[in-house]
Amino acid sequence: MRLTFLGTGVAVPFENRAQSSVLLEFDDKKVLIDCGIGCYHRLEQLGVGLDEIDAVCITHHHLDHNGDLLNILKARWLLDCSTLKIFGPPGTRYFIESLLEAYPYLRNKLSFDVEEGSKFAIGDVRFKAIPTIHSIESQGYVIEDAIAISGDTRAFEEFISAECAIMIHELSLPFNYIADTHTTPENLKSCLKSCKAERIYLTHLYPMTHRVRDEILEYLDCDAVIAEDMMRLSKI
Ligand SMILES: [Zn+2]
Ligand SMILES: [Zn+2]
Repeated sequence: MRLTFLGTGVAVPFENRAQSSVLLEFDDKKVLIDCGIGCYHRLEQLGVGLDEIDAVCITHHHLDHNGDLLNILKARWLLDCSTLKIFGPPGTRYFIESLLEAYPYLRNKLSFDVEEGSKFAIGDVRFKAIPTIHSIESQGYVIEDAIAISGDTRAFEEFISAECAIMIHELSLPFNYIADTHTTPENLKSCLKSCKAERIYLTHLYPMTHRVRDEILEYLDCDAVIAEDMMRLSKI
């Protein structure tokens, strides 16, 4: 399994980062976890065609996590691609239907199939969705007990303790923020004792969080890395 961070950015522009998106590559499948704005271009940069993507798993329907979904679906229609599998939290089907109300010219052209279950497989690879703590319905994904991807959430034990070698966790906010639906360094550190991952990749940092990244890594005092766009992890 190979993982590439396509987008590590947030809802404001910073350092040329694309918005949230991770590409997972298995033997014969390619899957996106979230597809925020910019991931579409990152795929091209990487040399991965939109026709090669088998499925998209959405953590939640905020624009910085799904902004390129319609772009991907429309391009796949123009490229005459097969049906795209879309997995997401409850409400995903309704959400996409609502988008098509706003863009009626796309209706009956886009080819997709939505599934909202909490356990599913893409090819032979097992995925589990765990509801997370955010301002709208949201879920993180655990893939083959090897990788856990939080999406936007407050850090909490049930997710942090997921069976995995690699944990990709959001860290939106810096020290001293009171936040119920995003992660702060203090919040993350309070859960770290139950983390089973060998390494944590931190993503979705707002600019003020990036400014204190060295202090945060020192404070967390664990094997943590700040993820960058196009960072690639092979042989997971
Ligand atoms: Zn969000
Ligand atoms: Zn976000």
